[in-house]
Amino acid sequence: MYAQICPQHPDEFVQAVVVNDDGLLSYTCDRAGHVTAGDFVWSGVAESNATESISGLAAELSLDTALPAAIAQYPGKWIEYGVVEAAYAQANPEDFAHLIQEHGHRAIKPSKYTISKYLASILGILGRNGAIAFHTGPATGRWNYLGKVSWWSSDSTLEWTPENQVSVAGAGLDASYVPGSKD
Ligand SMILES: [Zn+2]
Repeated sequence: MYAQICPQHPDEFVQAVVVNDDGLLSYTCDRAGHVTAGDFVWSGVAESNATESISGLAAELSLDTALPAAIAQYPGKWIEYGVVEAAYAQANPEDFAHLIQEHGHRAIKPSKYTISKYLASILGILGRNGAIAFHTGPATGRWNYLGKVSWWSSDSTLEWTPENQVSVAGAGLDASYVPGSKD
């Protein structure tokens, strides 16, 4: 299982609760003494053993810069995971096609370990490194079966308000950017 230290209690290890199939995790520290009264809740992304750091194919494709660059296309916004994926795919079509060959995509056929899970795990590493900011939010459009997904921003101080959010449904995204998509 996954565990992280509470950002406000350096000696408190908190076990993750799995939020959805794509490896989204939630952590709740219920100890007293947080800056804001009550429990402190934060999120993370489960990593496969293959992606504990930016190495291998992720390093070869420079995902540590290409994914933040995709997110930076939306300055001053929180963007839903599916919007990050589409922005990355449109900016890096050959690399995206290569990743699909490696991992598959649900828009082509159901698969347990998809490119989406893979990219979300890389985003999780970048989020923990502080390169990008992370928030849990609703899954929309063709991702809504997941319930909740990760949302990302270039700006860690950005408020989580509806006017700052770009969802898959709000952006009108379909799966046409996925090579071989049947949608
Ligand atoms: Zn705490």
